[in-house]
Amino acid sequence: MTAHSTLRRACALLLLLPAAAAAQAGELPLKHKPQPTSAAISAGDLMTRLYIFADDSMQGRETGTVGHLKATAYIAAQVKALGLKPAGDHGTYFQNLPVFQRSLDARSTLTVNGTRLSAFRDWVATPGRGGDPRSIDGVQVIFGGEQGDTVGQLTADQARGKLVILTARPGGRGRGRGFAFFGRGRGSANPLAEAAGIATVETGEAWEGAVRAARPRPGNVIFKNPSAPPAPQTAAMLTIDEHAAQVLLGVPLSQATKGMLGKTVKGNPRFDEKPAPARNVVAILPGSDPKLRGEYVAIGAHNDHIGIRQGPPVDHDSLHLYNAARYAITGMLARGERPSAEQEQELENIHINLDSVRKLRPVRLDSISNGADDDGSGSVTVLELAEAFAKGKVKPRRSILFVWHVGEEKGLWGSEWFTDQPTVPRDSIVAQLNMDMVGRGDKQDLPVGGPTYLQLVGSHRLSTELGDLVESVNKTEPMPFSFDYRYDAPGQADNIYCRSDHYNYARYGIPITFFTTGLHGDYHQVTDEPEYIDYDHMARVGQFVFDVAMKVADLDHRVKVDGPVPADPHQRCVNNGAPLSN
Ligand SMILES: [Zn+2]
Repeated sequence: MTAHSTLRRACALLLLLPAAAAAQAGELPLKHKPQPTSAAISAGDLMTRLYIFADDSMQGRETGTVGHLKATAYIAAQVKALGLKPAGDHGTYFQNLPVFQRSLDARSTLTVNGTRLSAFRDWVATPGRGGDPRSIDGVQVIFGGEQGDTVGQLTADQARGKLVILTARPGGRGRGRGFAFFGRGRGSANPLAEAAGIATVETGEAWEGAVRAARPRPGNVIFKNPSAPPAPQTAAMLTIDEHAAQVLLGVPLSQATKGMLGKTVKGNPRFDEKPAPARNVVAILPGSDPKLRGEYVAIGAHNDHIGIRQGPPVDHDSLHLYNAARYAITGMLARGERPSAEQEQELENIHINLDSVRKLRPVRLDSISNGADDDGSGSVTVLELAEAFAKGKVKPRRSILFVWHVGEEKGLWGSEWFTDQPTVPRDSIVAQLNMDMVGRGDKQDLPVGGPTYLQLVGSHRLSTELGDLVESVNKTEPMPFSFDYRYDAPGQADNIYCRSDHYNYARYGIPITFFTTGLHGDYHQVTDEPEYIDYDHMARVGQFVFDVAMKVADLDHRVKVDGPVPADPHQRCVNNGAPLSN
């Protein structure tokens, strides 16, 4: 995409904004009265389902929360009403995951030469998401300077087995990214990788924010998958205030110098753990052919999203308009790619005219990430396909396995668990069709969007036959899609082949195809709501995936696997799933 056209579109956008606001105002209603659904895959049915599934009452469906329970109960009730076979635990539709809410025990204390430092008063610690945090009991403190400052930074030998104290970067950049910064360089290249612990000094709002984040919160959960190799231990992550820093270093922070050794700390952060709700929803439509119904075509989406925003609510309408303007400028940048100077200038120039929106309605403050597109669109489209298969006159020869995965936003937990502990024989799954964000993709959502826009990832990776089949079915659609394969390229920076649930099937040699209409400005924002969804586009994606599934289910042979299957299903997926030599 050339720079000039971007400028033209931004100007057009600026000029258009009142009109856009009006057009936006012409958007769909904020509330929608549910209508009876039918066998046909229709925009109306999808609208009925999505306004329920992505309603504020679902609280953003975060794993571990009541919102997640309500959302999965809705799906289970729907598939039960359709008469599908339960394929979860113990004859239910639910497959529960070993997920736990882990929170810092407020009684935890650390001592330094007899001086007590109490949790939540002087320091807090986060449970981490990978392996168990290392012990800091009896380790010596060392000052590491400012977070992210690589000049004269500690060596690996200096940091190994120590509690490294870092000051936060001014202006918050790098704040809370201690771990990410710590992670930069991916493991061994990072000098702090073998520290026993890292304690970042915070003050003011940042300190308050860290304390808030450490308080018990339903969505603060960890996944303990016994079938996965134990995750390597990581450095204990603490946030401390200036008083604690002085006690640990033995001198005021202002007098600390890089590499300076401090006191020895006693004790460890302790965490409480209790089971938290996290469940996949699994249902089966038995196939019509006695010889083939023991084989399954899996169709999936993720039922979770990111919940309720921490911190103050935001002005929904102005954020939505700003996001659209921002994405029109930066939408085609690959992950990690920085905007050009000109784009930076354009971002500076964005001016949101709210007059027409304010005429329509007052400020609506919002703190719920409804996840209408991510992945409410995929979840209700899978439901709509379940209805079409259940009520359809012609039944597929092989069986259809519907899986609504939990914990995708946390790290593909639900699909990892289902494929490690499948409720049908794993090798009877002949293919998996995954949908994540299939409700947008139009011109105003991304620069390359349009009514027939669809991204495909992974369709030819493990099975050329499946990839070709997807393309041939598309040609038979009333309005064939124009496929965008750019995110399927080996090494592509967005790494999408590794970043959604299909990968957990592919790692076991199951051919997959990932369907998405792509990112947009409302991605992972409170503004990802049902009124911005393109239901016609979504219904056509649904019909297309239905047709592909029917075709695969009716083949007289299972699709042929001719691509490279990972040697170890537990190895980390990188480089967009391509061998690293690429
Ligand atoms: Zn998603």
